Amino acid sequence: TPPTAELQALDAAHHMHPFTANTALGKKGARIITHAEGVRLTDSDGAELIDGMAGLWCVNIGYGRHELAEAAARQMRELPYYNTFFQTTHVPALQLAAKLAELAPGDLNHVFFAGSGSEANDTNIRMVRQYWALKGQPERRTIIARHNGYHGSTMGGGSLGGMAGMHAQGGLPIPGIVHIDQPYWYGEGGDMTPADFGLARARQLEEKIIELGAENVAAFIAEPVQGAGGVIIPPETYWPEIQRIVDKYGILLIADEVITGFGRTGYWFGSQSYGIRPHIMTIAKGLSSGYQPIGGSIICDEVAQTIGQDEFNHGYTYSGHPVAAAVALENLRILQEEDIIDRVRTHTAPHLAQAWGSLADHPLVGEAVSRGMMASLALTPDKASRARFAADAGTVGYICREYSFGNNLVMRHVGDRMIIAPPLVISAADIDELVIRARKTLDQTLDHLHR
Ligand code: PLP
Repeated sequence: TPPTAELQALDAAHHMHPFTANTALGKKGARIITHAEGVRLTDSDGAELIDGMAGLWCVNIGYGRHELAEAAARQMRELPYYNTFFQTTHVPALQLAAKLAELAPGDLNHVFFAGSGSEANDTNIRMVRQYWALKGQPERRTIIARHNGYHGSTMGGGSLGGMAGMHAQGGLPIPGIVHIDQPYWYGEGGDMTPADFGLARARQLEEKIIELGAENVAAFIAEPVQGAGGVIIPPETYWPEIQRIVDKYGILLIADEVITGFGRTGYWFGSQSYGIRPHIMTIAKGLSSGYQPIGGSIICDEVAQTIGQDEFNHGYTYSGHPVAAAVALENLRILQEEDIIDRVRTHTAPHLAQAWGSLADHPLVGEAVSRGMMASLALTPDKASRARFAADAGTVGYICREYSFGNNLVMRHVGDRMIIAPPLVISAADIDELVIRARKTLDQTLDHLHR
């Protein structure tokens, strides 16, 4: 490999990184990852990092599983590409659809494939509107989503998402998508108990449905646990109340399981961990453990059968790509046969909860919480009042993330929250090492602030 500085110069000159001010990056030089094994990344200078984010919340089975490489090579030799449009298909796509129908709860028995989570959410927008049109209620078009939710970067996904910074660029949201507030008790709950706050935030859905008229509402979409919004774990009262409301008004529930699917919460799907019954689940990321780009929607009998009555004018060249599907099947086999998700629920997640939770005593930490294998910290200037780093929220998190990188730990920041979501296969010893590095990072950040 050429020297790091040479690679960094090429990168800075030509490669535009997502979600990055690229001129600032150019000045600094990107970290170049060359190799990975288990939960560890190696960079072009030979340094080893613990990947606390499983890439982008996706490498659930960890790096270096050669079975997936072999599944890809086998499929590439046999049938590298064919499409699933019209009346053709191939074995990997149909087998993966059948496997997902077996794993998904309830009557979520039908799969529409996409290349990513964003594309799958674009599918969902069109599918729920087409569903109601076929039901003779074409005015049911509005989709309710949440502020600070994340559903992808396409025009549709970015519109469903409630990221102010994304809406400000490029004229989002598209028409017919509205947002209610998030169930973020630590940051927005004031003097309410978490239980009361969870109910109040869920009831915003009912208020919004009444304001719009239920006859105009197609669906509600949300992540079981908000990921990119800062690993925000809803109060226990939240989801049962949401389920009551969607049932009462007969609107469709879309659970965006792109992060929470495939074991992240200790269950196959986050919906199971909260006991909710979505009509559609969005999937991607952990479906292939990120080894191949693939996403999709898992759809209940009623919606799939209705949509199937007419030609649904929608699809992607890579819907159900055979190599990606073959890799996803191998990934699901490993998750299932190695009992990875059961072990998360019974061992790994409880250990993470205890180890990560111990950071709550740090002077800079307002809360240290986790659900399954996703965890977060709120950085605070004053623990007692749950004060937030208001104007410079981004700055504090950014400083903390930089120290974390310096300590060879990949931890991400969202405003004033620090987040992790390591591979599900991380050992107890590596969780302890991750937490040691996180504590050192917090100490350095605190020193920095006092400078
Ligand atoms: N939905 C959720 C909940 C996500 O976290 C993401 C990505 O982080 C997406 C959708 C978009 O997926 P993709 O980046 O594969 O388009």
